[in-house]
Amino acid sequence: MTDTNNPVRHLLGLSGGKDSAALAIYLRDKVPEMEYFFADTGAELPETLAFVDLMADYLGKKIIRLNAGRDFDYYLKLNGNFLPTARSRWCTVSLKLKPFEQFVGDDPVISYVAIRADETHRTGYISTKPNITAVYPFKEDGLIKEDIVRILEESGIGLPKYYEWRSRSGCYFCFYQQKIEWIGLYENHPEYFEKARAFELFHKNEGRDHTWSQSESLDEMLARKDDIKAKFQAMNKGEKSKNLMDAVINDEDEDDGDEGCLICFK
Ligand code: SF4
Repeated sequence: MTDTNNPVRHLLGLSGGKDSAALAIYLRDKVPEMEYFFADTGAELPETLAFVDLMADYLGKKIIRLNAGRDFDYYLKLNGNFLPTARSRWCTVSLKLKPFEQFVGDDPVISYVAIRADETHRTGYISTKPNITAVYPFKEDGLIKEDIVRILEESGIGLPKYYEWRSRSGCYFCFYQQKIEWIGLYENHPEYFEKARAFELFHKNEGRDHTWSQSESLDEMLARKDDIKAKFQAMNKGEKSKNLMDAVINDEDEDDGDEGCLICFK
């Protein structure tokens, strides 16, 4: 029985990525009481923020901006200045998951998750909070990647612009980036590349070898810029993919099998 004093809330988190955007479009008329939110880390790309704004216009509703109240630098200090890694992903917990759980509070909530029917390996972030129930409309209705691209195209929204040089949404310094994406960051947003580089230089000055990419520093990567670009082109030679936008559509580069970061990238 529904508690009229505490009615069930319907929540959909936009990550700035294509799947959550397509899910919002898909459900717009099916769940009119939907509350949309975006957990802003304060380190988002301008393209991501513009895409979220575009979605707000399309949906005709406010997209609530969640933030952790403190920025990345604060949590970095709290974590002993250690940059987050895939194994120690304190950034997702502090900047995405906790703000989400605070937003939910103790209300009974249905959380709409944008995992597709062709992503059998993924389960997504399931909160341990007993008042949150996750549902998977794309899985339930059998929608796969081609359907998601079609939904975005038919709505007129299209794919986010950053897909031209980057395969995911998320922080500009995200350690999940491929090397070609770091080069894309350098070429499209040199000021952000420089900020990411400054984190590495801080560690270097402290006598530590701590880098965003596990295998090399951003300086080393930059020195190999042409090589990295040539390798990316060679890998895609003769294939449909010419840039990351095509790679995303053709399912070559996007998935990392990491369910905890769906909240950042989906
Ligand atoms: S986008 Fe990357 S760096 Fe940002 S919170 Fe998610 S995992 Fe961490």
